[in-house]
Amino acid sequence: MKKKNNEPDPAAVPGLFGDIIPSPAPPRKDGLLSFSYSKMSLYEECPLKYKFKYIDKIKEEPKFYFAFGNSIHTALEFLYSVKAPPFPSLEELLEAFRQDWNQKSYLEKGYRAPQKAEDDYQKGLAMLKAYYEHNRAAFKPPFLVEYSTDVEVDGLLVRTISDRIEHLGGGEIVIIDYKTGKDVKRQPLQLYMYQKISELDPRLKEKIAETYGQRVSAVKVRQLLYYHVPTLKEYTFERADDKEIGGFWERVLGVADAIKGLKFDPTPGERACAWCDYKSLCPHFFGGQPRPAAQPAAVTDNIEVLVDRYGRLKEKMEEIQAQLAEVADSIGRSARDGGEYAGSSYTAQVKKSSRWEFRDREAVIGVLNQFDLYKKALSLTLTGITGVLESDDLPEAARKKLLDQAVKKTGYDIKITKKPGA
Ligand code: SF4
Repeated sequence: MKKKNNEPDPAAVPGLFGDIIPSPAPPRKDGLLSFSYSKMSLYEECPLKYKFKYIDKIKEEPKFYFAFGNSIHTALEFLYSVKAPPFPSLEELLEAFRQDWNQKSYLEKGYRAPQKAEDDYQKGLAMLKAYYEHNRAAFKPPFLVEYSTDVEVDGLLVRTISDRIEHLGGGEIVIIDYKTGKDVKRQPLQLYMYQKISELDPRLKEKIAETYGQRVSAVKVRQLLYYHVPTLKEYTFERADDKEIGGFWERVLGVADAIKGLKFDPTPGERACAWCDYKSLCPHFFGGQPRPAAQPAAVTDNIEVLVDRYGRLKEKMEEIQAQLAEVADSIGRSARDGGEYAGSSYTAQVKKSSRWEFRDREAVIGVLNQFDLYKKALSLTLTGITGVLESDDLPEAARKKLLDQAVKKTGYDIKITKKPGA
């Protein structure tokens, strides 16, 4: 479901920390926008989610399926990181998996219960054992393993990470991507991204020359192969044609332009929101629950009349607000430490108050992430951050870092009541 035009702009929702200190610009390196297939798919899923993750850099909850997939990938990377036979033994492969798996507790990996983590651990061992037995006769040193590259193109710095690349000769390559989920679906955009970037990557030609002593004029992706580790099945996809790649690239540039133009309106969707860790920050949710549908404003006049009326009221309101601020300031100065004061028609309870303001939004988010305080803040409102800063159990190092970003402002709360009969 797309955001409707009459829904509020999230940047204008009062109380969001983002209103007080503007959001930073999208991350750029040497003037290039850093980009990847996962960034693109997240932006297309929900631009606001993209912003929370890649611009505000707010950590997501750990996901057990990523932890599991990462440990399998690490073990396979270890297996294929040989320049010449012999390959590691099965026991060494399983040990590589074990070591990676044991680096984090089950909670840090995103499991809710230790038994589920243990089940996945056993599943991982069995999966790798089956992989080893199934493929051992065909083991040969690969061309590249876990090959990460950043390629500059059209104002973007695009990163791809290939699990394994095989060179077929003459500059033709096959890219292998391990899949560890339940099933394998063709992901055309991922295929196109691999093809486009690999064929533009000058380092690949150099690597072919270094490894095989062959000078090639161009690199061509012959196939992309998804290897589904749980079932030991291979799914091969032939290279895309120029038309498909051209259409895909237009889409990439469209997403990049929207990011550069700071277009981060949320696009809530049942599936995207169900798995979103940012619900407590999202203007479409109240405390994690969907916002009730907005009631359409009653229209009693034509729009031209309403526009003028709105403008006049707004002007009047601004004038009154300025006067109110001035009078409140004078009352505050006269009342000093507060108290109760009476005029002929009204009584005022004056209370001295102070509040924190924070200078640098990104720095504050950095502190919350560093000390894992993000949940404690509940939301990125001034109240949430102030609550963290003033809590008794806040680590001193975190308090010091937050105080570096904080300024204390003094003001007066004035509660006014009308005298009976006035
Ligand atoms: S909760 Fe839904 S709309 Fe809000 S940021 Fe997440 S995915 Fe987007």
